[in-house]
Amino acid sequence: MTCTAVQTQELTEYWLGEVDEAHEQRIDEHLFACASCSSRLSALVDLGGAIRRTFIEGWLSLVLPEPFLRRIKDAGFQVREYDLPAGGSVSCTVTPDDDFVVSYLRAPLRGVQRLDVLIDDTTSGKHRANDVAFDASAEALVTVTSTAYLKTLKHSQQHVRLVAVDGGEERLWADYTFHHYPS
Ligand SMILES: [Zn+2]
Repeated sequence: MTCTAVQTQELTEYWLGEVDEAHEQRIDEHLFACASCSSRLSALVDLGGAIRRTFIEGWLSLVLPEPFLRRIKDAGFQVREYDLPAGGSVSCTVTPDDDFVVSYLRAPLRGVQRLDVLIDDTTSGKHRANDVAFDASAEALVTVTSTAYLKTLKHSQQHVRLVAVDGGEERLWADYTFHHYPS
């Protein structure tokens, strides 16, 4: 059973030290008594430096290893998942119950030296993440998109391109299209 006494947003603020003293004490007491919430907290702590305000509230997508996602699911977070083949597109959404939205961008990654991710979003514009971490033996890049950002979106389209960089040469490796609709 997943306890919802402490919401994900609240738990994140607690972990970032952004709640006031009385609130912190209330959460402390709850965590002491609640195995469900404390395991969710430790899964968040495992994100280490990866989780930041920009992730919580910004447009940013993070690239994460698959074991971390298992940990997040085991801890009781609600994860919405989309699985796209190279060249694929999907109609996607987010509901108030979702804590994380995860996309599996399928592509053969063996032999790739460096991978950059280019995002062209009709709402937030163009973004580029250089030299993202990826597991060459995995046949997919796993990304997590800020749920807070997604929840603010009306209809929006996001074009994601994976670019393989070798020396000075860039090559389009795979691309994906997300058609986002509010839930
Ligand atoms: Zn709880």
